[in-house]
Amino acid sequence: MQPDFDVAVIGGGPAGSTVASYLAGAGLSVAVFESESFPRPHVGESLVPATTPVLAEIGALDKIDAAGFPRKYGAAWTSAESRDIPHNGFTGLSHDFRAAEVMFVERDQPEVDRDFTYHVDRGRFDQILLDHAESRGAKVFTRTRVLRADFDADPDRVELTCRTGDETFHHSARMVVDASGRQTMLGRQLRLKVPDPVFDQYAVHTWFEGLDRTALATASGKADYIFVHFLPLKDTWVWQIPITDTITSVGVVTQKHRFTEAATDRERFFWDFVGSRPDLESGLRLARRVRPFKAEGDYSYSMTEMCGDRFVMIGDAARFVDPIFSSGVSVALNSARLAAKDIIEAHRAGGFTKDRFAVYEGKLRRAVRNWYEFISIYYRLNVLFTAFVQDPRYRVDVLKMLQGDFYDTDTPAALTAMREIVLAVEQDPDHLWHPYLGTLRAPLAVADS
Ligand SMILES: Cc1cc2nc3c(=O)[nH]c(=O)nc-3n(C[C@H](O)[C@H](O)[C@H](O)COP(=O)(O)OP(=O)(O)OC[C@H]3O[C@@H](n4cnc5c(N)ncnc54)[C@H](O)[C@@H]3O)c2cc1C
Repeated sequence: MQPDFDVAVIGGGPAGSTVASYLAGAGLSVAVFESESFPRPHVGESLVPATTPVLAEIGALDKIDAAGFPRKYGAAWTSAESRDIPHNGFTGLSHDFRAAEVMFVERDQPEVDRDFTYHVDRGRFDQILLDHAESRGAKVFTRTRVLRADFDADPDRVELTCRTGDETFHHSARMVVDASGRQTMLGRQLRLKVPDPVFDQYAVHTWFEGLDRTALATASGKADYIFVHFLPLKDTWVWQIPITDTITSVGVVTQKHRFTEAATDRERFFWDFVGSRPDLESGLRLARRVRPFKAEGDYSYSMTEMCGDRFVMIGDAARFVDPIFSSGVSVALNSARLAAKDIIEAHRAGGFTKDRFAVYEGKLRRAVRNWYEFISIYYRLNVLFTAFVQDPRYRVDVLKMLQGDFYDTDTPAALTAMREIVLAVEQDPDHLWHPYLGTLRAPLAVADS
């Protein structure tokens, strides 16, 4: 008996919708199973420009442009205290570091025709992408959770056990794409998931109506950048992301043990931490909270394998590190794009064996390795990031990473230079930057290798 579909996609978030759009557009029969009823809220609201080529390629960019999401022209970092950082040979490094910022216009990005991307209400954004996949021919089942994927009953198909409400039923496909996000459905079922050895961050976030974004902006006209406000605690920061003209998403990110030690509820934790930046707290106290506090934890992990016979994992279902550089949706979309290429080829060749997805896995692992190292260095030696952003020799290369432009073959030169400096600082207790080392210590250049 023929399977019901060529490809079954588990999850209708950005990764699942995007891969479904590519595959249905190429003529494959595709089903998307999404456990929630859309629109539903979701964390991950600030995009990077590397999303643009993918949205354009699947034909969804016009719909996103028409949705009226706030445009994001750049990113900024602020600190309460003046950090008197030794120059240490860097040029352009401000002694009085209270803020740093970058604008996407400073670097032309391949395939990107504009100097902005968007901040998005994920309820609306994800709905647009899922509807788009349906309009391209994918069959979408919402409120349908995939409970299990059975690979053993038949060598040429995957049997899915699904549940909608109280009803359990079965579907079959020639292969399955796991896009179930941090629920990592296949990773858990197949025991491929490995918690990150270093990162164990925790976030508490909500939306505020009426926050005066201009009061915290580094310059007029920049209030709609993403702002990362450092708190005077190592490895701890706050995001400020515009959702509409008047609504702002705000989240505190710190190490999970701090939340456990605080032994308090989310609301108190949020205000205690934000209270360490009086400028930020006073602005937020004047605004009105319009969503309950939500927490995200245990979100850093990798997979020992990202693909196998009749399956591929994409987006957060394949890997997630940390939200500091707003990379998640970009990885979701670009992994969908890369995986779709291999799946379409495998379909043409007539078999969905693991070796058919080797190009995908290799490219994604290389890109994610760069992300991982960039994030690790950021937490390990925060002043180095600031120094590189401000130094004209490295600024454009750092911007390339902040644009999410990680999918070519090169390791960004700034990353190599940063790695060398971190090693030198770690090995020399007398180094001027040694006191600035953070506590999170990831092995450099080995993750995902
Ligand atoms: C604190 C925090 C802040 C973040 N901030 C940013 C940011 O500013 N910018 C950014 O780009 N990224 C950010 N991210 C990351 C971002 O949220 C994710 O990378 C992104 O949502 C991944 O998309 P996805 O499609 O892979 O997964 P998801 O968006 O999670 O979608 C997965 C979908 O699968 C469905 N699903 C799960 N299990 C099943 C099942 N068994 N059956 C059927 N359906 C299922 C879920 O309901 C969900 O709709 C952040 C993450 C965290 C933790």
